[in-house]
Amino acid sequence: MHVPFLELRRGYEELKPEIDGAVSRVLASGWYILGAELRAFEEEFAQAIGARHAIGVGNGLDALVLLLRAHDIGPGHEVIVPSNTFIATWLAVSQVGATPVPVEPDPSSYNLDPSRLKLALTSRTRAVMPVHLYGQPADMDPIVEFARANGLVLIEDAAQAHLARYGGKPVGTFGQGAGFSFYPGKNLGALGDGGMVTTDDDAVASRVRLLRNYGSRVKYEHLEQGTNSRLDELQAAVLRVKLGALERGNSRRRAVATRYLEGLDRSLLTLPSVRPEREHVWHLFVVRSTARDALAAALKERGVETVVHYPRPPSAQLAYPGVAPQPLAEAMGRSVLSLPISPWMTDDEVRTVIDATNAAAAAVGSRAP
Ligand SMILES: *Cc1c(COP(=O)(O)O)cnc(C)c1O
Repeated sequence: MHVPFLELRRGYEELKPEIDGAVSRVLASGWYILGAELRAFEEEFAQAIGARHAIGVGNGLDALVLLLRAHDIGPGHEVIVPSNTFIATWLAVSQVGATPVPVEPDPSSYNLDPSRLKLALTSRTRAVMPVHLYGQPADMDPIVEFARANGLVLIEDAAQAHLARYGGKPVGTFGQGAGFSFYPGKNLGALGDGGMVTTDDDAVASRVRLLRNYGSRVKYEHLEQGTNSRLDELQAAVLRVKLGALERGNSRRRAVATRYLEGLDRSLLTLPSVRPEREHVWHLFVVRSTARDALAAALKERGVETVVHYPRPPSAQLAYPGVAPQPLAEAMGRSVLSLPISPWMTDDEVRTVIDATNAAAAAVGSRAP
């Protein structure tokens, strides 16, 4: 049996009549940007996660950039970010002219370790931007407290964690704003690029609305130098359909993860751990191995596709020369391997992944780092 890492076509097939209907409705409407579909999706998304406002934008990176801009964060300012994240978190900070200051992860949750936050604090720090990596909420209580105690803006990078919960509360509602991504492979994925800002702050919401549309509220009146970053009507209409299936998809991911956690051999691999008070949405199921590359190759031979998220953290990329090494994040980059997980996996595929992973890990002499 061949198990693909992720087959997005299955997500379309699951909802084909509804998605086709939504697309036809937009095509026939003759209105393609900033219209009724986006307004409805913004309301439905805000409602789903319990935020006052949701503002659709062009992609997840822009969501973070526009939030930073809405808080006037820019040159001369520092923003605390995880060392262990996708590069977009850092790029958002760099794009506004501020400096990303990394904090190393807690290796058991892969997320930013709050006990290290104070080491990164300087007189220039303006914001802290935790990431809910792989779909597990970061340790929000101490992060919220750190931001409050030091007068920092708290922006969540929730790109991988739609409807993940911390203490029962959905992520995207803990700070002054959050950025979501609707990149096709995310838990809530569009048929192209898309993103969303959520916030409870009326002023921030209205500033992001302005910035995403050329700094304009009234056509051809430009209050400031905004940009063009809008979620189009086609994507919004499709995302409304997919939002209706999100909780169901997340529970199916949880069921797959539970079977992995029960079936995979912990003497050969480090398995992800779910912290108390967290509802993980399993955007990715990431194991760690002392023989990661050999394990990936042996799985490929057995028909199971895997991916590495991420081989090198931002600090080890040519894009960030001169940044201090981040040994924990770099060590994770050498040992992590993502197994297939999606709402559309069959029970047979799950069984195949478990058996193939245990056999491959034993064959290559993998141990749990
Ligand atoms: C996907 C992602 C982003 C960026 O989202 P895009 O829609 O691809 O711009 C930002 N942060 C994290 C952690 C992501 O995984």
